[in-house]
Amino acid sequence: MIVPRLIERKRDGERLEPREIRELVLAYADGTVPDYQMAALLMAVYFRGLDRDEMNALMDAMLESGKRLDFSGLPMPRIDKHSTGGVGDKTSLILAPLIASLGVAVPMMSGRGLGHTGGTLDKLESIAGFRTALSLDEAEKQVARIGCAMLSQTDEIVPADRSIYALRDATATVEVIPLIAASIMSKKIAESLTGLVLDIKRGSGSFLPKLDDELELAKAMIDLGARHGCPVVALLTAMDRPLGHACGNALEVAEAIEVLKGAGPPDLIEVTLALGAEMLVLASLATTVEGAHVLMRDAISSGRALLKFEEIVSAQGGDEAVARDPSRLPQAPHQSSFSAKREGVVQSVDPRAIGYGVIALGGGRRNMEEEEDPSVGFVITAKPGFHVTKGQTLATIHARSRADLDVGRSTLEHAIEIGDSALHPLPLVSHRVTGRGVERLA
Ligand code: URA
Repeated sequence: MIVPRLIERKRDGERLEPREIRELVLAYADGTVPDYQMAALLMAVYFRGLDRDEMNALMDAMLESGKRLDFSGLPMPRIDKHSTGGVGDKTSLILAPLIASLGVAVPMMSGRGLGHTGGTLDKLESIAGFRTALSLDEAEKQVARIGCAMLSQTDEIVPADRSIYALRDATATVEVIPLIAASIMSKKIAESLTGLVLDIKRGSGSFLPKLDDELELAKAMIDLGARHGCPVVALLTAMDRPLGHACGNALEVAEAIEVLKGAGPPDLIEVTLALGAEMLVLASLATTVEGAHVLMRDAISSGRALLKFEEIVSAQGGDEAVARDPSRLPQAPHQSSFSAKREGVVQSVDPRAIGYGVIALGGGRRNMEEEEDPSVGFVITAKPGFHVTKGQTLATIHARSRADLDVGRSTLEHAIEIGDSALHPLPLVSHRVTGRGVERLA
C-alpha cells in the first residue's frame, strides 16, 4: 500500500477499493501509518466524501481493529443511545442509569469532546476517580452485574475509531456524513446491542446544520445497523441552542443529577424522555411511547434511577457521593453572572459559540495533548423566545481566573442575541426515522 497514492486518488475524487480502506485503517490503528498521512486522507475525504461501499468498508475495518463485547448468555435486551454531538447535551448521563434501572442492559461506549461539542467521557471523568477505560472483561461483567457500563474505546474496543476520532477533532475533519456514521456505528456494533436509539442533532450547533444532511446521516446509520442485525431508531432533536442550562463537564453532571432527582430544565427532560421512550419500546419493555414515559417517571420519582447512577459511579471507581451532594464535583474558583444589556426577546443562544467558549475557558481540548479543566463553563438560563428585562441575569460564568471571566463574558456577548421580535426556534424533537422511513413529529 502506497499511502500518498491513496491520498492523491481520494483528493482527486476517485473511489478507494474496500480492501484499500481496510488495509489503511488497520495500518493506522497499529501505528504503521503516521497521523500526518491519515490527517491528509481525512481532509481529502472531507472534500470528496465516501460512497456507501467505502463507508461500509471503513466501519468494518474499524470494527475489525478491536474486539466486541460478548453478552451471550445475558437474557436482557441490550439497548444504547448515541448522539451525533451537541452543546449542553447530557442526556446520556441521565439515560444510562434511568433505562438500566428499568431492567434493560445499557452498554454505553461514548466519545470525548469533538469540535465545539462536549463528550460524555469527559463529563463522567469530572467525577473524582471515575474510570472510563474499562477492559472488555470488566465492561461485560459490570453490565451483567448492574445492567450498565459507561466506557471509552480502549486498545481492545474499536481502537481505530478512537485514534481517527481524536485526529478528526484536531484537524477540522469532523463534519462528514460517512465519517460520522462509521465512527458512531462501529462503536455501537461493537457493543453487541439488540437495539440502538440515535439522537441526530439539528440546527446551527450540530455538525450537519442542513435537514437533508441530517436525514441522510440517520439513514446511513440505520443501514449500517441493519447490515449488522441491529435495529436503529433515530430522533432529530434541536441543537440551535444548547440543551438544558449547563455547558461544561462538571456543571453538566450536576444538571444530569438534578434530572435524576426529578427536577432540571424542561427542554432537557423532554429530549431525554423522548429518547428513553424509544429505548424502552425497542427493548419491548413498553408498547407505546406513553407507557414508556410512565415507567421512566416512576423510576425517577421512586429514586431508582438515581440509585442506579450511584451504583454505576461506584462500580467505576468514582465518588458516588456526588449523586447526593453534587457540590463534591470540581468547582471553578471564579463565578460571575452575565446580565442582559437591554430589554427584549432572546433571539438566539448560539451553541457553537458557547461550545468554543467552554473550550476557551479551558473546559475542552484545543489539541490532542491538552488537559481539560472539568470545573469551568456556563450555566445559561436564557432561551430563545424568553422575554428579558435590562439587567436580568442570563447566565453564570464559571472560570479559573478573573481574566477568564472576561473571556466568558465576551463569549456570551457574541452568543446571546436580544432583539425586539420573537423568533421560532426548532422544535425540540422534530422527526423520527426508522428503516421504514421518516415521520414528522413537529
Ligand atoms: N460521535 C461519534 O462517536 N463520532 C462522530 O464522528 C461524531 C459524533
